[in-house]
Amino acid sequence: MTKDHWEQAALELRDRARAASRKLRHSLRVPAAVAGGPGPLRAGVATRDLTPALPVHLDGYWQLRRAERVRDTPRARAVVLDDGRTRVALVVSDLIAFYSQWVEPARGRQSAVPAANVLLATTHTHSSPCLLGMFGPPGSVDMGYVEWAGGQMAEAIAEAAAGLRPVRVGFGRAELPIVGGEIPGFARNWHNPGVIDPAVLVMRLLDAETGAGLATVVNLGNHPDVLGDRTVEVSCDFLAPVYEAVSGRLGGETLVFQRALGGVEPIPQGLNDPAELEAGLSGVAQVATRAVLEAAERAEFVEVPRITWRTTECRFPITSGEALKAYASGLLPVEAADGVQRTEMALLELGPARFLSVPGEPHPEVLAKLSDMLGCPYDFVLAMAQDEVGYIVAGELFNPAGIQELLSAGRDNERVVLAAASRLLGVDGYRQPTCLR
Ligand SMILES: [Zn+2]
Repeated sequence: MTKDHWEQAALELRDRARAASRKLRHSLRVPAAVAGGPGPLRAGVATRDLTPALPVHLDGYWQLRRAERVRDTPRARAVVLDDGRTRVALVVSDLIAFYSQWVEPARGRQSAVPAANVLLATTHTHSSPCLLGMFGPPGSVDMGYVEWAGGQMAEAIAEAAAGLRPVRVGFGRAELPIVGGEIPGFARNWHNPGVIDPAVLVMRLLDAETGAGLATVVNLGNHPDVLGDRTVEVSCDFLAPVYEAVSGRLGGETLVFQRALGGVEPIPQGLNDPAELEAGLSGVAQVATRAVLEAAERAEFVEVPRITWRTTECRFPITSGEALKAYASGLLPVEAADGVQRTEMALLELGPARFLSVPGEPHPEVLAKLSDMLGCPYDFVLAMAQDEVGYIVAGELFNPAGIQELLSAGRDNERVVLAAASRLLGVDGYRQPTCLR
């Protein structure tokens, strides 16, 4: 073979390699301009007010309550993270739930973060404008409010992205004390007494230049229903004093994402006596705040070389009697014409931390299985994200006549969530967690 021939063959090989690389890059949707690799991690944070016009019907109990006052301001809080290649938004709102068909348009009402990389979750406060819709007459959800709230979430994302700056990232973990199967002054599992998830996780984001706190992302599980069924004020429930105390100590914004809240109620729960409310709310908030600050104190600051984000579609068959009745009578503002609630789950990986989103209320037994599958020191489970399929009850405990089971899409909830987690994590399943042995 001549020298010319070798040169020609080498040039052809190079062109073929370039073409293959272009094709791969296209299929991975990696923007060419930043394909050289991730840069330093940047983050931004912003919030928007979600106070409804008054009076407003509140959701959370078996009957609608008419609220004429605001006890504390509900907000949408957004953190945007960017490694120079991948950008994601984590947003949590002080609302009871936000269904997937509302999430979809809200994600696309801003262009700073790709819509598919936006996670919208709620804190599940039971003093929220009527959004579940299950306990009022048909049409009791104010769709004007839904649309406005989605716009507020999008605005918070856009502002957070506009303020991106280099950050230091720390992860910490604390355990709430368990005494007699309960967390005193904080929470108990009334569905399966004695089984409770005591973990409180935090992600701290500090301005890399000044060291000032930018945001604290908290993950803990408990129903925000210290305020009872006869209270008539819009409120974030026990989270309002948590936001104030944590931001007061650590600076920046505090975001709280629910974890294993299914079957878990606060101690005390359902207070109506005005004289008892203040002490009840601040007692529960103090236990939570102490654990958050302890986790923050222990935070391990790490290099996060890159962000990864994946999603997978989930299909929840609707089989529960109450849910079927609610869908059939048009009470639930959810599209489920073929008896399937379609939504998605996402996995975000940041160094030693993984954040798995779940579109409903996982019970502690389910959380234990997910935690085992996540298999990392900082296993964030972001419940109430992208949708609400109701309680996610462990298969081995599912009682078709139980109240938690009736307030769920049905007995397939756990199976669908575990299967989606397996796909996202690339693992076959879980080892039976200790609490269930
Ligand atoms: Zn609930």
